Amino acid sequence: MKTIQEAITKQCVNCNEEKEIKLFTPDKRSPLGVRNTCKKCTKILRGKYQKEYYQLNKEKKKEAARLWKLNNEDKVVEYKKEYAKLEYVKQKNRDRSNKSYHDNDGKRKQYLKTWYYQNVDTVRKSKRDWFRKNIGIEMSKKREEIHGLSDSYLKDRIRIQYGINAESLKYNPEIIELKRFELKVKRYIKQINN
Ligand SMILES: [Zn+2]
Repeated sequence: MKTIQEAITKQCVNCNEEKEIKLFTPDKRSPLGVRNTCKKCTKILRGKYQKEYYQLNKEKKKEAARLWKLNNEDKVVEYKKEYAKLEYVKQKNRDRSNKSYHDNDGKRKQYLKTWYYQNVDTVRKSKRDWFRKNIGIEMSKKREEIHGLSDSYLKDRIRIQYGINAESLKYNPEIIELKRFELKVKRYIKQINN
């Protein structure tokens, strides 16, 4: 003997199968106490509905956000500023820029290399100018000191040439002056002969 529940069957509006009442989704508001769809179909339909609802809602939310942004541009700017101030956002940006810096190591090197070859004359000229400005003057002074007629140079020459040491020259400074004069004359003659 079948129970009433087993005896009563119903056709599902979705799959059109004739099924026992207990295989339908319970619904207290309907006369038979069940929905028009079987449990199996209800589950499928619910999933489908939820998915569609989610998609629709997502689109709606997106659109709403877009409209809000459009109407609140000043607020958006303000929010972005505030957001950028957050410490973890700052760190994130630092990390990202470090990463991209390293990721681009090869590209950057290649770029610099290309740039260098395209601008090699300019680079050389600016190096030369810098050298003249910063080192050249110092060096020409030094050169003058070495090859010129400074006291220390003359003392050295006198010592080498005549064996008169620096101590003796203290008492005979005119020797230095004579040597200076001699060298000046020699150089002058050499210059006019060239
Ligand atoms: Zn069904």
